[in-house]
Amino acid sequence: MNKYLENLNNQKITIDSTPLLEYAKAYNIPIVKYESLQIILSFILAKKVEKVLEIGTAIGYSAIQMASIKKDLKIDTIEKDLTMYNLAIKNIQTYQLESQIKVWLADAREIDLAVLQKDYDLIFIDAAKAQSQKFFERFKDLLKPNGIIITDNILFHGLVENQEGLTKNVKKMVEKIDAYNKYLATLPDYRTIFLTTGDGLAITMRN
Ligand code: SAH
Ligand code: MG
Repeated sequence: MNKYLENLNNQKITIDSTPLLEYAKAYNIPIVKYESLQIILSFILAKKVEKVLEIGTAIGYSAIQMASIKKDLKIDTIEKDLTMYNLAIKNIQTYQLESQIKVWLADAREIDLAVLQKDYDLIFIDAAKAQSQKFFERFKDLLKPNGIIITDNILFHGLVENQEGLTKNVKKMVEKIDAYNKYLATLPDYRTIFLTTGDGLAITMRN
């Protein structure tokens, strides 16, 4: 990231996320890339987003960033890994954001939809990359008519475009991401904008 622009962005930042960034780096936690986060934050402010559903909490970094930029924002975020869940809960407490962020310890493929809201302004899909389409199909009806769905890691380090020399498992995964991207691109009733930002970002809106 451009340090000059980062400094400008930071002029109005109220939280210091350095400890989270350092932790993610030390333990290889795949948190959202800086530029992608800025796009998400822009949407939150521009569209006056009130409710967010996030699939894939990890240590809570993206949820904490989203909650911090808008004090009346409420987030439901789903995490299936107990270690990650516990770290997220601890971090959310540290930043005193418990009233804004609810972490659900669950597999997003199975979570009871009745515990969630039915009118999210933004759904952020950022869990197991091979399952993005499953998550899209499962949660799309919880979106407000003019809401948006943002999917992270649609380029997966460039491997989706260039699949040469991959191991069988990685190839299987990137093929699924590729299929999801093409699904989004051709889906009736929705329009998706694809960006190279970060690890690739898809921004999907209903027609
Ligand atoms: N959004 C976070 C990063 C999430 S990393 C950030 O930017 O800060 C992806 C997370 O999704 C991992 O912690 C992984 O455990 C979780 N995950 C993967 N598959 C999942 C599933 N089916 N249900 C819930 N969480 C899942
Ligand atoms: Mg991601």
